[in-house]
Amino acid sequence: MGAPLQLLDTGAHGRLRSISLNRQSTPEQEDFRRIQLIEVTIDSLAEVGYVGSTLAQIASRADVSPGLVAHYFDDKDGLLEAAFRTLSRRLFEQMDVRMRLAHTPRGRIQAIIDTNLGPQEFTQRTGSAWLAFWGQVPHVEGLKRVQNAYQRRMVSNLRYALVRLVPAAEARSLASTIAAMIDGVWLRAALSNWAEADSESARDLLSAFVDARLKECQPHVVDSASRSVRTPDAFQTINPATGEVLATIKVSTASDIDAAVEAAGKAQREWAARTGTERGRILRRAAEILRSRNAQLAQLETRDTGKPIQETSVVDVASGADCLEYFAGVAPTLAGEHLDLGPAAFGYTRREPIGVVAGIGAWNYPLQIACWKSAPALACGNAIIFKPSDMTPLTAIKLQEVLLEAGLPQGLFQVVQGFGETGRLLSRHPGIHKVSVTGSVGTGKAVMADCASTLKHITLELGGKSPLIVCEDARLDNAVSGALLANFYSAGEVCSNGTRVFVHRSVKAAFLEKLKARVSAMKIGNPLDPETQVGSLISENHMDKVLGYIARGRAEGAQIVVGGHRVIAGELANGFFVAPTVFDACHDDMAIARDEIFGPVMTVLPFDDEDEVIARANATEYGLSAGVFTNDLTRGHRMIARLQAGTCWLNHYNITPIEMPFGGVKMSGLGRENGRAAIEHYTQLKSVYVAMRDVESPY
Ligand code: NDP
Repeated sequence: MGAPLQLLDTGAHGRLRSISLNRQSTPEQEDFRRIQLIEVTIDSLAEVGYVGSTLAQIASRADVSPGLVAHYFDDKDGLLEAAFRTLSRRLFEQMDVRMRLAHTPRGRIQAIIDTNLGPQEFTQRTGSAWLAFWGQVPHVEGLKRVQNAYQRRMVSNLRYALVRLVPAAEARSLASTIAAMIDGVWLRAALSNWAEADSESARDLLSAFVDARLKECQPHVVDSASRSVRTPDAFQTINPATGEVLATIKVSTASDIDAAVEAAGKAQREWAARTGTERGRILRRAAEILRSRNAQLAQLETRDTGKPIQETSVVDVASGADCLEYFAGVAPTLAGEHLDLGPAAFGYTRREPIGVVAGIGAWNYPLQIACWKSAPALACGNAIIFKPSDMTPLTAIKLQEVLLEAGLPQGLFQVVQGFGETGRLLSRHPGIHKVSVTGSVGTGKAVMADCASTLKHITLELGGKSPLIVCEDARLDNAVSGALLANFYSAGEVCSNGTRVFVHRSVKAAFLEKLKARVSAMKIGNPLDPETQVGSLISENHMDKVLGYIARGRAEGAQIVVGGHRVIAGELANGFFVAPTVFDACHDDMAIARDEIFGPVMTVLPFDDEDEVIARANATEYGLSAGVFTNDLTRGHRMIARLQAGTCWLNHYNITPIEMPFGGVKMSGLGRENGRAAIEHYTQLKSVYVAMRDVESPY
């Protein structure tokens, strides 16, 4: 610190120049000099305004040569832009601290008001400097950029707090109004030469205004998880990338559910009496209709989930259609078996439907999950009542329309809407005979407990923290591709993700180098843009959870290789975008390597030998998926056999063709979806003994 202080204290221009050009200056010293010059600039602006603040005048105030100022900032505009940026950054740093300390949305709004109009900020020095900048914004490109970023961030901070208190549309306009009022109070104070500047009454004015407006908007209750307005009777679904309200959905009541179960029961008896070929024909027609609506449905799914259209237009609808088509083909092949019991008798089994099934879906693959549950259920002669997640309720409704149009009789596929409570009405309903749920482990346990009272069949597709192992002989480019698919597809919101990437120590550096280059090139953006590869997370709460894990990873000593932050550039500030993140220097007991994050966060962990990595890979309560990259196939199969996971990939990751069963072991679930294995979970066997002789009785 000695040199910079000397720099500004000496007042000898020649000496200053020689110090500034001294190659020995550390980056810290250089930064310090810049900061000093910026402070002098802010003072100058406050005192003599923009026009008076020339480069020469600022240099003279700082007691340095104009050449030195130009060395750091090029010209006056460069210096003023840096000063404006500093002022704005400081304000937001203070705002962030205050907002973190606030525990309620209203408290966060107050934190914003208090920071802007607090006694430290609401002063002549800072205020005059701001005013000097504002006056020049229309004329200086650099200042315009800073001002735009400042405005966007201010409005977006306000809006994030407000959407928890009022409907999204009102939150948007109220956020802009509050921001404009804060600016107006500043401007008035500045124009009165700070004679009317009273921090306390300025804050009181804003607070009273906010409270009055919030009162007018009552009695809206806004769900903190989804940011949508939610009452016991209805909820809104929003586009998480933009905050746009997509629809208001009525919550199904207990009597709606009773009626649905009754209608399903009636329809199911007639449906079960049809041949498999007849049932299959309707499902195949539904697959065709679904495919013909790929573009509209993909767009709807993207808007409801925030996933890139690049994914939904080639995967979500298509894979749902594949599922319907596959089970359309399976339906006519359903059969029992003949059992030879000697000349006196024979036996056979009948594979019969279970009856009325409930499907409960997660929000990450709404249409696919609805298809994965309904196609096998219907193919096997059941009726199904499906409850999508309240965050993504839309495409299930479209699937219902498609199935009806394909000729499915009324009552066989019904959509009910609501929250966890609605799911409970289903899993506790005595008229429902099976529940298939996709969700978190906690929900799986709750559903299982609820199903116990009526001993329902259950399928549980739950969470995971899956390992992906990259051996030293693997083709590294393929392994990197696999790791990307295992972590960043659908912004990491995939249950089977291989988020613990174990890489052999001898290739870890090369692996990370390739990985970093490819992750850095990923395009984060508006999910409806076909170029976008990473879209928005599902909700603000979920984003906070993901960012919380990233912060925890850092705090526990892991190092960010790439990413590690929220993305708020331009229009993305309205959504919940998190940059794909890779952590190095991790160890197995860090939270980021233990817990399911369900976001774009990869941990890279080195290993030395096969036994060690298998033991570490299996050291988790989960067991959904696993992957191995190796060129030694014997070793690959050996390792896969030792991994405790329901779904494994050798030299690939996260590919789920409909022909292959999918599901987990350990805490990741029970039962299987997809493939012929699903039939086991949507039918029950009846054994029939057929006598071929007279009955011999001892009585
Ligand atoms: P949740 O467990 O929060 O919710 C899943 C569904 O269950 C929602 O429709 C939810 O309703 C409903 N629900 C919640 N509580 C109950 C209850 N007590 N009784 C009945 N239904 C209830 O999961 P998310 O939606 O947050 O999805 C993320 C989770 O899903 C992750 O853990 C992920 O790993 C897992 N998942 C597993 C997959 C697999 O195939 N193994 C695939 C995809 C995701 P609502 O949300 O409307 O309140």
